[in-house]
Amino acid sequence: MSGSVPESWLVVHPYLRPIAELWTHVDRALAEIPVPAAAVPAFESYRDEFEEGVTLLSSIRAPPELAPVGPLLEALIPRLESRPLPGTVSGEVSALSAALRRDPELSGRLVAWLLGDDSVEPPSPGMVRFLGWTALARYLRPVVEAFGQWRDEDRWLRRYCPTCGSLPSMAQIAGLDPARHRLLSCGCCGSRWRFRRTQCPFCENDAHRLSGIKVEGEAGLRIDHCEACRGYLKTYEGMGQESLLLADWTSLHLDLLAHERGLKREATSLYDLGSLLGG
Ligand SMILES: [Zn+2]
Ligand SMILES: [Zn+2]
Repeated sequence: MSGSVPESWLVVHPYLRPIAELWTHVDRALAEIPVPAAAVPAFESYRDEFEEGVTLLSSIRAPPELAPVGPLLEALIPRLESRPLPGTVSGEVSALSAALRRDPELSGRLVAWLLGDDSVEPPSPGMVRFLGWTALARYLRPVVEAFGQWRDEDRWLRRYCPTCGSLPSMAQIAGLDPARHRLLSCGCCGSRWRFRRTQCPFCENDAHRLSGIKVEGEAGLRIDHCEACRGYLKTYEGMGQESLLLADWTSLHLDLLAHERGLKREATSLYDLGSLLGG
């Protein structure tokens, strides 16, 4: 997940420019500060929890060290403050930066909130979600990669992300028959994991199958949805363009289209950034 998308994509999808611009600032700010890399945990100690469906970030036996993420946010947010940010983002980032200066414990609590601690009430939740997960995903990248190599996908096949527990924001149909398969994609930490090819990952009872809506002018992308729960998955059918087509924000127009059809997004969005989307 990153901000670099080809100009040709933005020419066809001009409404994505403000978010592309925001991403550019975040990428540059991250390039200016030392971003620590998370140490890869001893996965073997976590194996039993994995078999029981415990996500890596909630593991008791081999939890990745998250303490450096708070200081990373404390470094990133003031850096962004000095940049010409689009829309109302600038005001929100300044307010967040001031709040972090006032309260040295805040950054740690924001990380806890991102991981599901509801007792925390963050200022600017949309912005905290975007910046927080961006920093967290960047820090966790080596762990997400190593975890992907370690895990036996056939032993997971669950509806939520094996790393962080989020519901999938997108899916990818990859491979060629007979090895064609579906991967679900996490919009928060960037993990991709295997799931049954046609079933709905949002229904409690997973007997429901998804049907697809083709999107005009969007080769490779479609909206798969479930008649039973009205949940949908933006789906990339193909391989090779993962970083563009699975980035979630590059297909926000598909979320809009799904919303207009009365479908609901079950996955958390990092791009609930109000005015930036013209909303
Ligand atoms: Zn995840
Ligand atoms: Zn469903």
